Amino acid sequence: MKKISIAAMVAALSLLAFAGIMALTGCGGGDSNVTAYEIAVVLNVDSMTAECKETVRYVNNGEAELDGVYFHLYPAAFRKGARYFATDSANMSAAYPKGADYGGISVSAVTLNGEAAEWKIAGEDEDILIVTADLIPGEAAKIGIEFTLDLPEARHRFGYSDGIVNLGNFYPIAAVYEEGKWRTDPYYSNGDPFYSDIADYVVTVTAPTGWNVAGSGRIETSIDGDVTVTKFTAEGVRDFALSASDKFDCKEGVTEKGVTVRYYSVGDASADSRLQLALRAVETFSSLFGDYDKSSLTVVRTPFLHGGMEYPQIVFVSDSLDGSLFDEAVIHEIAHQWWYSAVGSDQINDAWMDEGLAEYSVTMFYENNADYGVDVQKRIADAMQAYVLFTEMYSEVTGGTTAMNRNLGEYTTTADYTYHTYVKGALLFDSLRHAIGSDKFLEGLRAYYKDMNGKIATPDHMIAAFENASGVRLGGFFENWVDGKVGLY
Ligand SMILES: [Zn+2]
Repeated sequence: MKKISIAAMVAALSLLAFAGIMALTGCGGGDSNVTAYEIAVVLNVDSMTAECKETVRYVNNGEAELDGVYFHLYPAAFRKGARYFATDSANMSAAYPKGADYGGISVSAVTLNGEAAEWKIAGEDEDILIVTADLIPGEAAKIGIEFTLDLPEARHRFGYSDGIVNLGNFYPIAAVYEEGKWRTDPYYSNGDPFYSDIADYVVTVTAPTGWNVAGSGRIETSIDGDVTVTKFTAEGVRDFALSASDKFDCKEGVTEKGVTVRYYSVGDASADSRLQLALRAVETFSSLFGDYDKSSLTVVRTPFLHGGMEYPQIVFVSDSLDGSLFDEAVIHEIAHQWWYSAVGSDQINDAWMDEGLAEYSVTMFYENNADYGVDVQKRIADAMQAYVLFTEMYSEVTGGTTAMNRNLGEYTTTADYTYHTYVKGALLFDSLRHAIGSDKFLEGLRAYYKDMNGKIATPDHMIAAFENASGVRLGGFFENWVDGKVGLY
């Protein structure tokens, strides 16, 4: 996620300090050991609901025998009375400009290998579906889930606003099983509280003809009178998301290496230049980090309370941003195709890994595309100034930690989260680059992408990549930054 630009944060902080306040279109199979989802979504745009049927071929890729499969039901965080509501009180008016509205997910039937299954709704916030299934390592089970979505009128990952529907994190997705247990982290309003393994997807969306549906993966459409079915196929992706509108315009281009990039927006006079920016970002990051390994990428300009949100092969960028702030968000979310989408990490406990790297990748983009006229040294200096100012103010108020490896639920505010994962995260990578040199830094990043693509990287994997590239022991360096023991350094 991209919440706010560094430039905007500097401006906001300066203001705070000064005031002394502290408070479908032409755009248009599965490996046996990879979990595969088939989801049929029938979108009712009059009631803003969706009837969905999902079939998951879940593969037990771990070493332990399982007695059930756990799924996150993230839309539950949008229901009235949710303990972990998707929006914190400070962001309610941005998410719900017309007043609070609620939605959710309702599971009606579950099958296991074609028979009625034993299942229950559990979790800290009734946001986990547990399907009873005995699975030895290597074994697969076919799980069918029927569910209904009720979309809130919200400028959020899940909801609709101004005639645009966002379907992020909308379907039951298998939780990660690690170290002998299922990860059932709730939907924190801070950050991106999502954690999942790579899987294959075939998703069909049935919507009224005239509605354009954007999504992850390859697109095929078939029109049957009043109804159009859009089919998406995406292999080896960490998640799947959609956005739909009957007002979308779509522009499409192709990178030098043949990646199709689409840009969906409504009445955007800058659509052409924004498509060009997205193409340039894919080309730049492919050249810096290693080739983008999918055939397409979609950018959607859509109502969203934060700056943007990354999903595999599709990113949302907020229609509330403009100018350079919009551009930054496009570049940041596209960088997440490398850091989050391809190389996974624990976004709940180590958010600095993908957010810090995505944010620093924006700096690297501007460094390699001087025609955009961004002063890279000033960008880094601004980040440093903003971070130092924030920590001074923050510790005066709370005496708080500067650790970057806190659980999302442990950050006191959105700003606390943003400064420590994005800003301090980006500064960590800039400092590392100065410590080991640009060549070794890039060599480490390229190895990190190559070796961890499709996997979930821990901080140790990241450290090892830079240590192997540089020949320098870096455990202490990372520990000092991440644990917050030595303040900024
Ligand atoms: Zn981000």
